[in-house]
Amino acid sequence: MSSQHPDHDIVIVGGGSAGCVLAARLTEDGTTRVLLLEAGPATLPEAVAYPPAWPSLAASEAAWGDRTVPQEASGAPVPLPRGKGLGGSSAINAMVFARGHRTSYDAWSAHGAKGWTYDDLLPYFQRTETATSGAPGRGTSGPLTVGPATQPNDVLLACLDGAVETGHRRAVDISGGLEEGFAPVDLNVVAGRRQSAADAYLAPALDRPNLDVVTGATAHRLIFEGTRCVGVEYGADGQTHTARAAAEVVLTAGTIGSASILQRSGIGSDDDLGAAGVDVFHRLPGVGRNLHDHPRANLVYQVQRPVPTPRNNHGEILGLLRSTPDADGPDVQIIFIDIPLPNAVAPVQNGFTIGISPMRPVSRGSLRISSADPYAAPVIDPRYFTAEEDVRAVLSGITTARRIAWSDALATWGIEEISPGLSAVDEKSLAEHARRNFGSYCHPVGTCLMGEDEMSVVDSELRVRGLDGLRVADGSVIPAIPSNNTNATVYAIAERAAELLLRS
Ligand SMILES: Cc1cc2nc3c(=O)[nH]c(=O)nc-3n(C[C@H](O)[C@H](O)[C@H](O)COP(=O)(O)OP(=O)(O)OC[C@H]3O[C@@H](n4cnc5c(N)ncnc54)[C@H](O)[C@@H]3O)c2cc1C
Repeated sequence: MSSQHPDHDIVIVGGGSAGCVLAARLTEDGTTRVLLLEAGPATLPEAVAYPPAWPSLAASEAAWGDRTVPQEASGAPVPLPRGKGLGGSSAINAMVFARGHRTSYDAWSAHGAKGWTYDDLLPYFQRTETATSGAPGRGTSGPLTVGPATQPNDVLLACLDGAVETGHRRAVDISGGLEEGFAPVDLNVVAGRRQSAADAYLAPALDRPNLDVVTGATAHRLIFEGTRCVGVEYGADGQTHTARAAAEVVLTAGTIGSASILQRSGIGSDDDLGAAGVDVFHRLPGVGRNLHDHPRANLVYQVQRPVPTPRNNHGEILGLLRSTPDADGPDVQIIFIDIPLPNAVAPVQNGFTIGISPMRPVSRGSLRISSADPYAAPVIDPRYFTAEEDVRAVLSGITTARRIAWSDALATWGIEEISPGLSAVDEKSLAEHARRNFGSYCHPVGTCLMGEDEMSVVDSELRVRGLDGLRVADGSVIPAIPSNNTNATVYAIAERAAELLLRS
């Protein structure tokens, strides 16, 4: 497809969680002409549909294969998978579906974003989902069918019992954004199969005559007439094409993709663009800054009783906690995982893992393109655990997780801690364990910060500041990461973006 005249009103770049929502919602009226461009394929590996297989997908053709630069905390690069193909990261993720706790959205206004509190987002959260739990405040007729695992793994149920035995609250609905404590979390699994954004939103819209989808289409850069964005230059089948938009271009290429496209188009800071050899078209120093993510440290256990074969997403039960009583909301997540994850101490055949993650990390890093080449890997530096607050939060979570592991509920399983092992008891060794052995929880956000100050990239209506006809509407606009896994929040942002676009 190559065109000089707009065949479409809106061009959406990136067919992941947010892009699928937008493509579906914007074409519901039957009149708005939409083009969705996606770099990856339309058809993904079979394993995508089978929930326990998700860890294998990060190294498949359904992912980009990104790594961070060596991290100050560990001296090593960290794999940072993101999805590539229709559904994007929702097609390879771990299928946990949860809103952040309501308190974590309060920080969104720090740079001036208006109207993005939990209460403001609530109708959009509800619009996304049909929650089988029927819990108060949850959606009842959205495209995503979400609910707790129907047959949770016995070892994870024992962990839940251990949490309650050691004094923690048994939450009713830990996915709803209002509770603290431990509970089975909602999953994007329907009748034993993953439900991605492409399954729930895009597939039912594909037959609409006002929606075109082009896969294998990598956006190179944006096209401007004056300060108005009028289209996208992209590569497909070894050729360069142009897609023009009569109304707007919307970037939904994710936290790594959207900021990279802006930078390749000359939108960013003088330093980043200069280093990549790209001329500055529009100075916006915040592009690529504010990159942050949830790092996750693991405790790995061996047990004598055979752990039942995993049937779901491995992480069916989690808890949200405060690291200190005076925290203004939960800032640590503990997730129970029904396989022993690889660790640096010794291989474990039969066991499980407890993952601990600071939910409101203070560490901030950056993303920048390495060159003007749209196919070159970007330079990703989240600077995990460079803020002491994040180390303190994870230490508090490790102490709590160990108490749960030593509960009577787990004693009957014949449990032994393999990593880090019980020789690590003092804070120094545990902090060292977290800093050296963490991984990404794969929730990067923030590189196109929403706000109204000089570091913000989009305004409160997701319009790129200082330009016309261009919005960003994915995880990259999140100013401060919500205190839970990020996908539910991205869906809500996209639902709201669709409304903003249709209203303008
Ligand atoms: C392995 C993994 C596990 C995760 N587990 C969970 C979980 O259990 N629960 C949870 O809530 N969250 C989880 N997440 C995070 C969650 O999936 C993301 O926050 C969310 O999907 C981000 O949505 P998005 O629309 O911002 O980006 P994405 O869904 O990543 O979509 C971006 C899309 O843009 C495309 N794209 C990028 N660049 C270009 C370009 N130049 N041209 C054209 N297309 C482009 C990509 O191929 C991709 O399809 C996980 C993520 C990963 C990777």
